[in-house]
Amino acid sequence: MPADDLSALAQVVRKYSLANALKYDGRADARAVIGKILAERPDLRQKARDIIQLVNTTIEEVNALPVEKQRQELQELAPQLLESHHERRTKELPPLDGATMGKVVTRLPPEPSGYPHIGHAYAGYINWYYARQYHGRLVLRFEDTNPRAVRKEYYNAFREGYRWMGIDWDKELKVSDDIPYFYERARELLQRGQAYLCTCPENEIKNGRRMGSECSHRGSAVEDNLSAWDAILDGKYHEGEIVCRLKGDMKHLNAVMRDPNMFRIIEHRHPFQGDRYRLWPTYDFAVALEDNLCGISHILRSNEFASRGELQAFIRSLFGFPQPRIQEFSRLNVEGTPVSKRQIRPLVQSKAISGWDDFRLATLIGLRRRGIIPETIRELTREVGLSVTHPVIDWSIILGINRRLVDPMANRFFAVASPVPLTVAGAEPRNAQVPLHPDFPDRGTRSVHVDKRVFIDTTDAEQLKRGDVFRLKHLYNVRLDKKSPLGFACSYAGEEVEKAEAKIQWVGEDKVPVQMLFPDVLYVGEQPNPHSLRVEEGIGEGAMRTLKPGTIIQLERKGFGRIDRTGDQVVILMTG
Ligand SMILES: [Zn+2]
Repeated sequence: MPADDLSALAQVVRKYSLANALKYDGRADARAVIGKILAERPDLRQKARDIIQLVNTTIEEVNALPVEKQRQELQELAPQLLESHHERRTKELPPLDGATMGKVVTRLPPEPSGYPHIGHAYAGYINWYYARQYHGRLVLRFEDTNPRAVRKEYYNAFREGYRWMGIDWDKELKVSDDIPYFYERARELLQRGQAYLCTCPENEIKNGRRMGSECSHRGSAVEDNLSAWDAILDGKYHEGEIVCRLKGDMKHLNAVMRDPNMFRIIEHRHPFQGDRYRLWPTYDFAVALEDNLCGISHILRSNEFASRGELQAFIRSLFGFPQPRIQEFSRLNVEGTPVSKRQIRPLVQSKAISGWDDFRLATLIGLRRRGIIPETIRELTREVGLSVTHPVIDWSIILGINRRLVDPMANRFFAVASPVPLTVAGAEPRNAQVPLHPDFPDRGTRSVHVDKRVFIDTTDAEQLKRGDVFRLKHLYNVRLDKKSPLGFACSYAGEEVEKAEAKIQWVGEDKVPVQMLFPDVLYVGEQPNPHSLRVEEGIGEGAMRTLKPGTIIQLERKGFGRIDRTGDQVVILMTG
């Protein structure tokens, strides 16, 4: 290698050794460093042997330095590596404004009208985090005052989703249990002349709001309002015929304040209240009163309903309730991945996805099936923090965190797609000892019997040429003598790892059929992605028979995945 190249290479090795050392308390790891270098300089793959030596000596030097010296040197050599690392280590959620130890009460306020998704987990973790951080309390409160939207199964889906995230709560309630209380409070406003009943058609109300003009009902006498209210409760009106409106300000700049609805009739059976109520409070009215009932000190929520905050504060002020502190953040979105019910339901109905737990979705049940672990979402939340700059999270960020976290726990296995048989002449039959995880030798090995024939992945097979010497991982080296449609004829070529140009995974005669499903985004921009799912059929090593559904593994050279089903065939959802 020319001297110039060598010094450039030395620098690359040095900077990644330093960055890696700083990441792991001053001790760099050769494998990780080599991975980084080859990612930056794929052209060096041919020279892997020289690099390994250089990395080993560099790491020895680097690991001998005090951490402060490592940091100083990296600062000069490649400050961009230092920064990104520094951020990761120090990311924590900031202290909460106006929080007193023991007095913080936060809430999880799901509407049980769909399955929880990553946005709920993000907001939920923030609320949980501060409640615990300040030794306060967390309330799980189902916002279930639209009987047409809510369903019994979703209450449980939220409980399970939060539990999966490691979020526990101190109190649970349903807003629909407090309807009598809302009625009392509404009567109070009617008596004070701060609310009125309006029988204008819906589009007239809309127009009035737009034009800032009041309708005749605004001036109704208190007695007339009270008797109309009673008439509603007696069932004398039907859905769409009457609403109860708050007297706001019809000329207010925030249109939400223009005499908003507080109650409307919904003729639909409620999953828990049955037919007990026909008159239901709107979201803003219910939320403003419930936050007070629950003693919420801090409202930590996404800012998509920011304009409604003013109305909720106004309602609280009418009753003289204290104003909780409000901290808003952007709703979390994942690139190319719908989270709203409106977008997901048609995909389920058209069978474009398998259901709400499809592993391409960012629902919690979908993420879980894909092999994303809850700690990944917790770490992501701390990374994003209480951001107000609309975070659209790329899958690569989620997957990057997840890979780092699951790597130590995922055992490794071999699987190959569209297997190509390969016979090796001149090799003695043997039991290959394959480590379950190369970084954790004490986990042991699995013994794989090999006689003369193994199977390799068709994509590897396509790249090999006659005369190539390559290594069957953890087995031995072989030379490719002949390619034929029936399989490859090879001959034994020794044991030395360094002599092989490529290392590939293989499966022996003891094998199980596997199906590997690789996900991609469901949408590219606004368009459905026709390639959001790729399926590889193949075989995996016999040891995979014993894996249970839910186990997260790493298929060497294919990536992490989660066992979805076992039986005649092992189905693996690849995490990515
Ligand atoms: Zn009216």
